[in-house]
Amino acid sequence: MSTVSVNAWMQAAFAVITAEADHLTRLDSAIGDGDHGLNLKRGFQAVVAKLATDSDGLPPGRRLILAGKTLVSTVGGASGPLWGTALRRAGRSVGDAETLDGPALADALDAALAGVVELGSAEVGDKTMVDALTPATHALRAAVEAGKPLADALSAAAEAAAEGARSTVPMQARKGRASYLGERSIGHEDPGAASTVLLIAALGRALED
Ligand code: ADP
Ligand code: MG
Repeated sequence: MSTVSVNAWMQAAFAVITAEADHLTRLDSAIGDGDHGLNLKRGFQAVVAKLATDSDGLPPGRRLILAGKTLVSTVGGASGPLWGTALRRAGRSVGDAETLDGPALADALDAALAGVVELGSAEVGDKTMVDALTPATHALRAAVEAGKPLADALSAAAEAAAEGARSTVPMQARKGRASYLGERSIGHEDPGAASTVLLIAALGRALED
């Protein structure tokens, strides 16, 4: 059965965030303060470095918690605490399990989403990362429960996240910095939803047999 490697996920996340940092920054320049690409790049770079030195012998849940703590302590913007909380909650839900298989990952994403919602109190429709993470979580759970291979389940999750991110374009932001713009936030994709697509897609590049 396929499982996900936390270290490979974080490496894939860092790679894709680095490749797309300018794009994320442009999205955040339109409706925020233009730091989103840099925030996440700095954060995931620190996560990769931390895991490289400190994760030997740790089960996946502990690795996720370490990654989350590192994000919180290295990212100043809203996305640091939000993704940091997400990964810490995911890690706690995994507990001491030895591998991150489909059912464990579905539970972990549920816990991550619950953590983000608890911290930021955004709902679907508020034009935030929640608009991408919610459908991704639901799609992963549905595919895992239908018995799909994990690779297919993760593709479905990434597609659902992308659709969720596209759905933020016509929304008016009700949370975060973009909400200060009122109606002027309409017509732009939310940067946090866009980066969530990348982070979920990175899961699919972290599969091992
Ligand atoms: P900042 O807004 O502090 O500059 P970033 O630019 O790194 O932080 O991240 C902005 C993203 O964070 C937004 O695009 C949005 O997706 C997400 N975000 C902001 N506030 C919230 C919130 N309350 N709940 C969920 N996500 C949020
Ligand atoms: Mg910003």
